[in-house]
Amino acid sequence: MKATIAAGAGAAMPQLTKAGDAEKTNTMYIAAYDTESARCLEACRKIVEVHKRLEMPATFFIVGKTLDANPKEYKELLTNPLFEIASHTWSHKMLRDNVFCGPAVSADEKREEIFRGKEMVERTFERPCLGVRPGCSFDDGLRGAVDVLKLIGEAGLKYVSSLAWGPDYSMPALLREPFNYAADGFADLWELPCHGWHENLLKNNNGWGPRRLTLWPPVMPEAIPSKFVKTPEDEFAVNRIFIDRALDRNKPFVSLIWHPWSLYKFDPEMKMLELTFAHVHKIGLKPCTYADLYKQVSGQGDTISHA
Ligand SMILES: [Zn+2]
Repeated sequence: MKATIAAGAGAAMPQLTKAGDAEKTNTMYIAAYDTESARCLEACRKIVEVHKRLEMPATFFIVGKTLDANPKEYKELLTNPLFEIASHTWSHKMLRDNVFCGPAVSADEKREEIFRGKEMVERTFERPCLGVRPGCSFDDGLRGAVDVLKLIGEAGLKYVSSLAWGPDYSMPALLREPFNYAADGFADLWELPCHGWHENLLKNNNGWGPRRLTLWPPVMPEAIPSKFVKTPEDEFAVNRIFIDRALDRNKPFVSLIWHPWSLYKFDPEMKMLELTFAHVHKIGLKPCTYADLYKQVSGQGDTISHA
């Protein structure tokens, strides 16, 4: 399986995108949600409804404190073979410096973020938590952050999803491929990035207003809208650029950066999800979870349960 991914990384074999050739792709699609505030519960109810109806798998990265506020509700809602539950740390504190979100916290706090976040997921859902996505994430993942990698390894986590920005903390995050942290001494720990825009920024849902967010010269100019998106269709049009490019470039996977609270505020009917999932099905990407992707890239399992 590793060989498949490596070949996918370097090969410039064009993929045909018309429906008739859809079955030839190996590109996977992961719907994933950074679940991180009180407003996420109501949003997740709506999200789960769409996923069940369309039989679309998903990974929910959940902040420990958010889960701790409503453990019964989340357990009931998200216990489903379609869903993987992973950690979004204990309380969303920074595991390393982030230009926009602030400096790294102390060593003790980093430990708490990683260990307590994982424990909360495992205690609630009574199954192993394989991965963690740090709050805000970083432009080079956790490369060089040996103290953090050590804690993550010690906690028994198998993957991190910590690369969520383009070069120099720009948006969008490019279509980066999985890699392991062998260069930092952690060959068994995998980075499984995420792609595109933090959708909350695309809509000004953080209330930041105009910010110095994009790179010049841009790597994907077509993926930088000239203004905040206003409708679910606008948002889908941006999503589609990343999804289609992942297929055209034969990337191992594509996964956009979504937040239940922000999706719900913008589009309570979750029309964007329907548009995006219909497109994913139409072009023949293989829906799966981050756990499935981890199993494939690490060779720890050779089947995708949601193919
Ligand atoms: Zn977050």
